[in-house]
Amino acid sequence: EQLIHQIAAGEVIERPASVLKELIENSLDAGSKRVDIEIEEGGAKLCRVRDDGCGIERDELALALSRHATSKIASIDDLERVGTLGFRGEALPSIASVSRTKITSRSANYSVGYSVSSDNGLVSELEPAPHSIGTTVEVRDLFFNVPARRKFLRAERTETQHIARMVERLALSKFETAFSLSAARKSLGDFPAARSQLERERRVAQIVGDEFMANAMYVEHESSGCKLTGWLCQPTYARAQPDLQHFYLNGRMLRDRLISSAIRLGYRDVMFHGRHPAFVLFMEIDPRQVDVNAHPAKLEVRFRDGRHIHNFLFKTVERVLRETYA
Ligand code: ADP
Ligand code: MG
Repeated sequence: EQLIHQIAAGEVIERPASVLKELIENSLDAGSKRVDIEIEEGGAKLCRVRDDGCGIERDELALALSRHATSKIASIDDLERVGTLGFRGEALPSIASVSRTKITSRSANYSVGYSVSSDNGLVSELEPAPHSIGTTVEVRDLFFNVPARRKFLRAERTETQHIARMVERLALSKFETAFSLSAARKSLGDFPAARSQLERERRVAQIVGDEFMANAMYVEHESSGCKLTGWLCQPTYARAQPDLQHFYLNGRMLRDRLISSAIRLGYRDVMFHGRHPAFVLFMEIDPRQVDVNAHPAKLEVRFRDGRHIHNFLFKTVERVLRETYA
C-alpha cells in the first residue's frame, strides 16, 4: 500500500511547491480565513501550513494519512459538480508516503487538538496536542525515501521561487483569506485579507506588479451562464512571454490552451502579432459544464461545450477592448 501511495504521489507531487499547493487548497476548502506557510531549505526540509479552518474530526484524523479518505465527495453524482478544490482524497496519503508528515488539528467539537504522524508509511497513534480550531500540516524531508526524486530537486533558491509563485497564484484565488509565507522566519510575502475593491487591487498589484495595475482595465460581464470578472491589460502592456496570465475557473487556477487562445483572439485587432496579453481573470460557470477530474494536478479541465466557453471569452475580451479603443 505504501508503494501505491508513492506511485500516486509521483503524479501530483513533483516538488515542494506541489506539496504546498495541495496543503493550501485543503486549507481553503476548510473555509480558512488565514493561512500561514513556513518553509525551510526551499521546502525540502520543511513545508508547514497552519490554518484557522474547520479542522479535522478526531476520528477522521486517524485515517487522513493512511488511506484515501475525502470528506468532500459522497457519491459519484457529487463528482459532477465539485465545488471544492480537492475531491480525490489522494493528496495527504501520497504526501505522507514520500515524507515525514505530521497533522495537528482541532475541530469545534473538541476543546483540545490531536496529532498524528507518519514516517515511512508507519502511522502513529493519535495524541492530544494543543491547537486552536484549525489545522497544521508539517511535511519534513520530502522524498527522503525516494532518492531518485530527491535528486531532481533544484537549488534552494529555485524551489523557494516556485513556492512563492504558487502561494501568489493561490492568494489571487481567495481575496478574503489572509496569507503569509516565510522561509526560516524571514517573511517572503504577506497578503492581508482583501474585502474592498481597493484592497483587492492592492493584492493583485502586490502579485503581478504596480505597472500591470496601472495598465489594467477592470472587467465585469455576465451572459449566457458565464460570468467574467478581473483585470485585462492594455494592449500596450502586452508581453514578449505569456508570463502574466492568471486565470481562475470557479476559483480553481487553470493552465488551459482553449482559454489562453480565446483571450488572445480577443486582442487580435489591437496588438502586435506574437505578443501576449497579461491578465488576472475569474470565470464562473455552472460546475456541471466542466470536468475537473481530467488531470491529476487539476490544472487542466475538460469543458462540456468548449466552443461556448471559447466564444464567450473571445467576444467579451474583444468587446471590452473595442469599447476602450473605439
Ligand atoms: P481531498 O482534498 O481530495 O479531499 P486530501 O488528501 O487532500 O483529499 O485530504 C483528505 C481529507 O482531509 C479532506 O477531504 C479533508 O476532510 C481533510 N483535510 C485535509 N486538510 C485539511 C485542513 N487543512 N482542514 C480541514 N480538513 C482537512
Ligand atoms: Mg486536498
